[in-house]
Amino acid sequence: MSETSTKKRSPKKKKVPQWAKLFPDFIIERDPEKCIKCRICVKECSYGAHIWDAKKKELSEDPTKCVGCHRCEAMCPTRAIVIRRNPSDFREHAVWTPWHIKNVYKQADQGGVLLASTGCAKPVRTYFDHLVLDACQVTNPPIDPLREPMELRTYLGPRPDALEVEMRKGKFRLKRPLPRQIKLEVPIMFAAMSYGAISLHVHQGLARAARDLGTLYNTGEGGLHASLYEYGSNTIVQCASGRFGLHVDYLNAGVAIEIKIGQGAKPGIGGHLPGEKVRRRSPRPG
Ligand code: SF4
Ligand code: SF4
Repeated sequence: MSETSTKKRSPKKKKVPQWAKLFPDFIIERDPEKCIKCRICVKECSYGAHIWDAKKKELSEDPTKCVGCHRCEAMCPTRAIVIRRNPSDFREHAVWTPWHIKNVYKQADQGGVLLASTGCAKPVRTYFDHLVLDACQVTNPPIDPLREPMELRTYLGPRPDALEVEMRKGKFRLKRPLPRQIKLEVPIMFAAMSYGAISLHVHQGLARAARDLGTLYNTGEGGLHASLYEYGSNTIVQCASGRFGLHVDYLNAGVAIEIKIGQGAKPGIGGHLPGEKVRRRSPRPG
C-alpha cells in the first residue's frame, strides 16, 4: 500500500450556515457557579455541542449542533446545564410559520428534501386509530361474535338491478353471469404512491401488505416494475397525465385501472419527475 493511501485524512469540517448560527433551535445554558469542569457533558453529547479547550481549560457551547436531547443536562453531576428552546422567534404568520421558514432555509442550504426517520414530529393524525366501522345497517347483528363472526368483505364493481335465476339440471342457477367484481377482505385501500415518489422496496412492501390483507394498493402514476406484476390481483394501475411507465403490459397488469384527472396534493397536472430519479431500473415508458 502506498504511503499516500495509508495517510489518515482529517474529516472535512462542515461549514455552519449563517441561518443556523442566527437562529439555533436550542440554547445551552451553563451555570459557571455550579460547573466543576468534569467534562462529562463533552463526552456525553454525541453532537459535539459542548467544547473543551484544553489550552485555556475552558468549556464553551455550540448551540447550532444541539438537538435538544437533554442528555448532557441529565448527566451533569452538579445540575449546571439547562437546555432551553430558543425564545427568539419569527413574526407570526398563519402560512409561513417559524417551522416553515426554517425549513426553507435548511432546504436552500442543503438543496435536498428534508426527511426524518421513525415517525413524524408533527401532530399528524393516525387515521387507523380513529376509524369507526358503523355496522348499524347490518340486519341481524350477531349477539355472540365469537360464534357468529362478522366479516368486512366488500365487493367493488357494477351490480345488476335484479338477479335472474333459472332451474337447470334440478338446480337454481344465475341466468346471466354477474359483472366482474373486485373482492376486498377489508373496506380499506391504500392511497396511490408512485414508484418515483417512493422506491421499488416500498412499492414491494405495499404490494405484499395488500396481498396479505386482501386489499388493493395503487401504483400511482410512476409505472410498475415488472417484478411486481405477480401482485396483479391486489394492484390498481394508475393512468395519469405524466404517462410515466405507461404501456399495454402495465395496463393489463392490475385488477383495475384508475384514471387520474386531478390531484389534491399538487393541483393540476400532478408530479414532475426530477432528472436524477430517471434510472435504468425505472419502469419503461410507454
Ligand atoms: S457536566 Fe456539568 S459540571 Fe461537568 S463540565 Fe459539564 S456542565 Fe460542568
Ligand atoms: S441537549 Fe443533547 S444535543 Fe444538546 S448539548 Fe446536550 S447532549 Fe448535546
